Amino acid sequence: MRYTPIFSFFVLIALISCKNTAGPITKESTDAPSGYQGQGKNPIVPTVNKPVQKQWKGVWSFDNDTTYFTNDFDGARLNGVAADGNDHYTIWITAENTPINVSPWYAFKVWTKNPREITIKLSYQDSRSRYYPKISTDGINFKPLDSTDFKAINPGEGDFGIKAVPEFVELKVRIDQEPTWITAQELYSSKRVKSWIDSLATKPFVTSYEIGRTSEKRPLHLMEISKDSTAKKALMIISRQHPPEVTGFIAMKSFIETIAGESAQAKKFRKSHSIFVVPLMNPDGVDNGHWRHNMGGVDLNRDWENFNQPETKSVRNFLNNKSSEGYEFVFGADFHSTWDDIYYPLDTIATGSKGKIVFDWIENISKRLPQKKSNVKPSGQLEPTMVSRTYFFVEHKMPSIVFELGDDTPRDFLKLKGRVAAEELMRLLDID
Ligand SMILES: [Zn+2]
Repeated sequence: MRYTPIFSFFVLIALISCKNTAGPITKESTDAPSGYQGQGKNPIVPTVNKPVQKQWKGVWSFDNDTTYFTNDFDGARLNGVAADGNDHYTIWITAENTPINVSPWYAFKVWTKNPREITIKLSYQDSRSRYYPKISTDGINFKPLDSTDFKAINPGEGDFGIKAVPEFVELKVRIDQEPTWITAQELYSSKRVKSWIDSLATKPFVTSYEIGRTSEKRPLHLMEISKDSTAKKALMIISRQHPPEVTGFIAMKSFIETIAGESAQAKKFRKSHSIFVVPLMNPDGVDNGHWRHNMGGVDLNRDWENFNQPETKSVRNFLNNKSSEGYEFVFGADFHSTWDDIYYPLDTIATGSKGKIVFDWIENISKRLPQKKSNVKPSGQLEPTMVSRTYFFVEHKMPSIVFELGDDTPRDFLKLKGRVAAEELMRLLDID
């Protein structure tokens, strides 16, 4: 199925004008601290289902059927394209619904029968250009666009966050018959995450199973790392409630690979601890290329109080079952991404001595990684639970944290930080 440029233009205008009536984009504190002035109270957000705009999927064809753009793959987001002449194209990126956090995810492929350099302008619905473009020729290996091919248009006037980034960007891309992927971050669709789970599950002490299904019937996979089912001290690790937060996922992946690794420390740790992991909390949002929400149109990390959504309900039921089987949760972490690396623990004013281990752990990680400072912003708010970290502590007495990695943190450092975080946690938990 193909769009003509004229048709897509009108559909796009209709789509944008109808979306604008839904309300303004708003910023929420957990993922968008404004200048790190501290973690404010999370506003209470309703989590009952809201309508979601599914994107039209297909191929846009231009220049007498010689140049093509597509969003027809998992994780794609491309809501409209126009050919402006002179090998210049404008791309529209819109959100699944509003109000929504400003994390304008995009991902599309482009190719041509007439190899040449083209210019692509990215424009966003009520947002600015948060994510620096990544390029790939195989959909697996991505690198940042060369800075000489990148142009900021209307640069931001602020010094942090969305106010500091350009309104639009233009990219120069050399295209040929083979597709070029252009994406906001590396692509980790639900299939790619599942193949990572499967690769770890070849180890005798790693199993994986479904703990529920999303509204589009995608499985929620849980990975269990346990040498011995009598090891009742347990960790709960989750990631990617928010689809674009790939850097948090990359750190989580390294964290888990370290705990499931072959070091003497990891082997010893697994004798006394069981590790439960949901690496992809929002597969519908990820595969649909959402900016933040699930298919219920809801921010999952506001639903750990009312549990209106299948994804949060599945983890709640899993944790309740494990607690009733006698597991004692000794640590919980939820990996996210934001403008820069930051830790959001619960304040020991609220958690008492139970929560102190989280601060010892942060201190030990920071000592080993002096090359990049991470801010620490504790929250003292235990009610309503609403976010996973708070629910983990209030209902299951887990010392817990929101572990945030920067959108632009170097990928090698993300992997190192995930590994160091795992090593320091195993060291602290294995002391007794
Ligand atoms: Zn997040």
